[in-house]
Amino acid sequence: LSNSLKDAVKKLAGKAVVDRAAVDELVRDLQRALIQADVNVKLVMGLSQSIKKRALEEELPKGMGVRDHVLRIVYQELVSLMGPEAEVSLKPQTILMAGLQGSGKTTTTAKLCRYFQRKGLKVGAICCDNFRPGAFTQLQTLCQRINVPIYGDPKEKDALRIVKNGLTALRDVEVIIVDTAGRHALEDDLIEEIMQINAIVKPSHRWLVIDAALGQAARDQARRFHEAIGIDGVVITKMDGTAKGGGALSAVAETNSSIVFIGSGETIDDLERFEPNGFISRMLGMGDLKALVERAEDVMEGGDLDVNAMLKGKFTLKDMYKQLEALNKMGPLKQVLSMLPLGGMNVPNEVYDVTSVKMERYRIMMDSMTDDEMDDPSLLGTSRIHRIAMGSGSSVDDVRELIKYYKMMQRALKGFKGGGRFSMNRMMKQ
Ligand code: GDP
Ligand code: MG
Repeated sequence: LSNSLKDAVKKLAGKAVVDRAAVDELVRDLQRALIQADVNVKLVMGLSQSIKKRALEEELPKGMGVRDHVLRIVYQELVSLMGPEAEVSLKPQTILMAGLQGSGKTTTTAKLCRYFQRKGLKVGAICCDNFRPGAFTQLQTLCQRINVPIYGDPKEKDALRIVKNGLTALRDVEVIIVDTAGRHALEDDLIEEIMQINAIVKPSHRWLVIDAALGQAARDQARRFHEAIGIDGVVITKMDGTAKGGGALSAVAETNSSIVFIGSGETIDDLERFEPNGFISRMLGMGDLKALVERAEDVMEGGDLDVNAMLKGKFTLKDMYKQLEALNKMGPLKQVLSMLPLGGMNVPNEVYDVTSVKMERYRIMMDSMTDDEMDDPSLLGTSRIHRIAMGSGSSVDDVRELIKYYKMMQRALKGFKGGGRFSMNRMMKQ
């Protein structure tokens, strides 16, 4: 499935013209991959609309190939689905962790302590989960290893009292992470409790911890927590597993926030700042997106124009054909040529007027020529032109048109003062 997306991108790269059908095809493959990754259907449809609209309506940025243009739009739209980039401040702050039991709150609390500790801040954690037996010990074990103080009281039944006492106990600490209890389902008393904790702590941030495997259910959870305490960041855990994490995007959309961190393992250092490129790639299961774009460029290999040889007059019919072929792969000839820095090259309008049908006709006519004639078409006299027309099932006029076209190209290239070997690929990337 992720392969189909890769294929779609490759197909796009090989297309002479990126038209509506090509964009539709890419968007369809993208939709399939996203839905497979648990991204909410409504989000996927919204994304598809924006990609199509932009790909077909936005003006091609100067110097950019059509394919790169479309890929870039796809990437930008995917990134915007991830929400605005979340800043992680290194100022003194309090962070309240929310989420269901088993989502990874306690583990993430310890990981965050480690994160801020490494940034040189004094950190501490409060465990106000007095619901699950062993919750305090779990956090204590994790934090002891990194010498981070934690506050908790397994015997205290009142979570609010724990929090109040914890804030007092950790008053010298710069960053306080408040780990909360989660239940098996979203229950009113849990929501009630976290609202009260929120009122007491008045945290700088309220982050929702979501298991990457959660899928569509992420949306409802996010809504409930958001309505209760106003979520301003999402942490996706267990991204090291098989889950693709698309469900978490619903949580992002629902809370109008963004992903702050990604949990990528069970140890305390397995926490990564959110990086859209990596996340999108993982979600779509297609490796590094940048690498993909580069791979797509392989399709255009052979797009090098040997200008030196041309200027030396060694521009044969074969060369012309090869280059037309390469140019045709990259998009409409006019568009491609208009991007080149062709100083002094006066290109007649007819040069642009080569369709793939015409190219096929050229190729068949050239098959009836000798190697010498293709190297030097001036050898072609009237009788040879008639023979070639007959041999290739075309008219004399067709053959003359080919020769005329060749001469026109040759003249145009003679006027080209650039020199040196230049790469079409490099041009396209500028
Ligand atoms: P809580 O109930 O929300 O506090 O969840 P816990 O922090 O206790 O985590 C539940 C389970 O998920 C534990 O076994 C953790 O080791 C595991 N876990 C948490 N985060 C990750 C992660 O990023 N990757 C993996 N593989 N396991 C994780
Ligand atoms: Mg816990």
